Amino acid sequence: MFIRRLPRFEYHAPASLAQALELLSKWGEKAKVFAGGTDLLVAMKKREAVVEHLINLKGISELKGISEDEKEGLKIGALVTLGEVEQSKTVREKYPILWEAVSVMASPQVRTLGTIGGNLSSAVPSADTAPPLIVLGAMVKLRGIDGERSVRVEDFFKGPGESVLRSDEILTQILIPKPLDGSGGTYLKLMRRNALDLALVGVAAFLRLDLDKQLCTEARIALGAVAPTPIRAPMAEEILLGKKVDEVLAGEAGKVASGVCRPISDIRSSLEYRCHMVEVLTKRAVMGAYHIIREGG
Ligand SMILES: Cc1cc2nc3c(=O)[nH]c(=O)nc-3n(C[C@H](O)[C@H](O)[C@H](O)COP(=O)(O)OP(=O)(O)OC[C@H]3O[C@@H](n4cnc5c(N)ncnc54)[C@H](O)[C@@H]3O)c2cc1C
Repeated sequence: MFIRRLPRFEYHAPASLAQALELLSKWGEKAKVFAGGTDLLVAMKKREAVVEHLINLKGISELKGISEDEKEGLKIGALVTLGEVEQSKTVREKYPILWEAVSVMASPQVRTLGTIGGNLSSAVPSADTAPPLIVLGAMVKLRGIDGERSVRVEDFFKGPGESVLRSDEILTQILIPKPLDGSGGTYLKLMRRNALDLALVGVAAFLRLDLDKQLCTEARIALGAVAPTPIRAPMAEEILLGKKVDEVLAGEAGKVASGVCRPISDIRSSLEYRCHMVEVLTKRAVMGAYHIIREGG
C-alpha cells in the first residue's frame, strides 16, 4: 500500500491532564491525542485519520505508572507502554494472563512505544489486551472536562474502531481487581506467524475452582478478532459452572464459543477457519486455566 507523508498539523504538548482536556474540548473533532503513535501515525499517513491538532500525552505524569493496592487491585496508567507492562514483576506474577497477551504483541520496538491505553482506545477487534482485561473484570477510567466516569472494559467497545470514549475524553487508567484465591487464566493467540502479527483469533479463559479445586465456581471466556468487537461467550461459560472441568467439558465449551463468534473472511483467514480455531483454542485455554489453578498450590 502506498503510504504518503504525514499531512500538516499543529502540535501541542500539554504538561497536565487538565491542559490536555482543555485543548481537546477547544479543538473537538479536529484534535486527536497521541500516546505511542503506533496506530495513529500510520492512520494519519494513510489519511484514515484527519488530524489538525495533535495533542501529545507523553508529558503528563498522571497517566504513567503501575501501582498495586491491596484492596483495589492493580492500577495501570493509560500511558504505560506495552513494554513496561511486560517488564512488570507484579503483572507477570499476579496477573499473568495480561502478561501473556502483551508479550506476544507486535515487536519489542513497537512495545517500547505503544501504550496499553492506546491499544484499548484504538478499539480494533483484535486488540490483544482486551480479552484478558475483560476476563479479569477490569475497568477503565475516562476523564472529560466535566468529570470522570468508569466503564467496564467489557462495555467499552462499540464496533470496529469505535468505543464509548467521547472525542473530548481521555482514557486515564485501567483498574484490575485483585484475582480471588483459587482463580487463574490464560490467553491464547493464533497468528499467521509467530511474531509481529495481529491475532486471527484470541481467546482468554479465566476460571475459579472450589476449595477442593474440583468444581468450577466461576468462568469467564472472552474472544478477540472474531466479531466487530472483543466479546464474551456467556453460554460457553455456563457449560463449565458447577462442574468438574475435563477435556470433554472444555470441548463442549469450545463448541458453544465457536457458535457465538461472528468473524469475517478476509485475506488473512476464512470465517470457517476462525470459527474452528475458536473451538480449539477455547478448549485449550479452559484446560490451561484449570491446570494453572490445580498446580498453583
Ligand atoms: C508493526 C505493528 C504491529 C502491531 N502488532 C499488534 C499486536 O500484535 N496486537 C495488538 O493488539 N496491536 C498491535 N499493533 C497495534 C498498536 O501497536 C497497539 O494498538 C498499541 O498499543 C497502540 O498504542 P499507541 O500508544 O501507539 O496508540 P496511538 O497510536 O498513540 O493511539 C491510537 C488511538 O488511540 C487514541 N488514544 C491513545 N491513547 C489514548 C488515551 N489515553 N485516551 C484516549 N485516546 C487515546 C489516539 O487518539 C488514537 O486514535 C501493532 C502495530 C504495529 C505498527
